[in-house]
Amino acid sequence: MPGTLDSTHDPALRSWVDAANDPASDFPIQNLPFGVFRRTRSPDSAAAAPRVGVAIGDQIVDIVACADAGLLDRDGAVAADLCRSGRLDELMASGRDSARSLRQSLSALLRSDSAAVRANRSIASSILTPMADAELLLPATIGDYTDFYASIAHATNVGSMFRPDHPLLPNYKWVPIGYHGRASSIVVSGTPVRRPTGQTRDAADEAPRVGPSRRLDYELEVGVFIARGNALGHPVPIAEAEQKAFGLCIVNDWSARDIQTWEYQPLGPFLAKSFATTVSPWVVTLDALEPYRVPAFTRAAGDPAPLPYLASADDARSGGLDITLEVLLSSEKMRANGTPAMRVSRGSFREMYWTIAQLIAHHTSNGCNLRPGDLLASGTVSGSARESRGCLLERTWRSTEPLTLPTGESRTFLEDGDEVVMRGYCERPGRARIGFGECRGRVERGVGRGE
Ligand code: CA
Repeated sequence: MPGTLDSTHDPALRSWVDAANDPASDFPIQNLPFGVFRRTRSPDSAAAAPRVGVAIGDQIVDIVACADAGLLDRDGAVAADLCRSGRLDELMASGRDSARSLRQSLSALLRSDSAAVRANRSIASSILTPMADAELLLPATIGDYTDFYASIAHATNVGSMFRPDHPLLPNYKWVPIGYHGRASSIVVSGTPVRRPTGQTRDAADEAPRVGPSRRLDYELEVGVFIARGNALGHPVPIAEAEQKAFGLCIVNDWSARDIQTWEYQPLGPFLAKSFATTVSPWVVTLDALEPYRVPAFTRAAGDPAPLPYLASADDARSGGLDITLEVLLSSEKMRANGTPAMRVSRGSFREMYWTIAQLIAHHTSNGCNLRPGDLLASGTVSGSARESRGCLLERTWRSTEPLTLPTGESRTFLEDGDEVVMRGYCERPGRARIGFGECRGRVERGVGRGE
């Protein structure tokens, strides 16, 4: 369950990495998210191997380099040894305590009054890589990917387009709805996304045809990387569920609405979703998010209480997270003109109907085992306000309210060359602002018609 605040959250902390002290930075010393990077300016290939790092300002701290230079305390050094594979898999598998030890050790090393750095300023160059000289990779080997549907506003909006009289299905307020996604096509931010080809049907009296999707959409979501997991046959009680969550990222669950509409009954999404899912490269730990906890979503009067295996007083009190989430869109023409990307939505993760602990408790309630590095996504994050709708299907209300871009171009769904950037950040008075970085993807023209 929720932890406590400690010295790593102190809003007065400053770092000797100057850019980390910019109030607009996503990566101040209070954040310290984990990721995997490769140096792009290395003279030899061995030095360009994947390495585990932590973001600080505009730099990446190399965890293993810190350990090898003797800069971490004992617990930090033990945890750093789990990073030698150049993936986060082993650190995730060892549970949240290892990452917490590293976080505390790195916070002490990176703060402006660090004794080690004061004694030897040249340390900086041995442990830091500028983000500009690095390529960010997928943070972990993702074995399984599950996508939920935890926003009641999203479920209600989409449901009302197709079933105006009863938008929410009868199970929604009882069961955290989800489906098993495809892990093999999860890509890191910046990877181009090719428009998928598939079967679509324009009208009920027509035969389906095959071709590039004409209703390509994004879905703004939050991802949860699993830490230690659970054994097959052993459900995770809700009181222990958050200990299974290593950290969070931003997810774009690209969706081909025309393919989805034709294929989704009776077994749910398939090829409409499995062609690509983009994740942001930095994993923000639950420890870093501790100052931004809020109560779980307040259910409307008359809604059922969660069943006992999904209910916990702690979770109701502080199982929510106040993460502001934004989507920005730019067309090829906008970028050619130098026009900045247009923000098309802004909402908050606090409006989700189900908490992270409830998603994990439900997922394992039948005995299903979660494994380290598994990714659970929240489902499209939409709120009650029109501006907070987290996908184009909702934002343009099934194409009846097209968006107008600054160039005068109109959008109901994504065109080739469009670039979607998702961002997340947490702000609270008296606390440092922390962010997630970007989840970016550009749509490429589809190929092959398959007829
Ligand atoms: Ca989704």
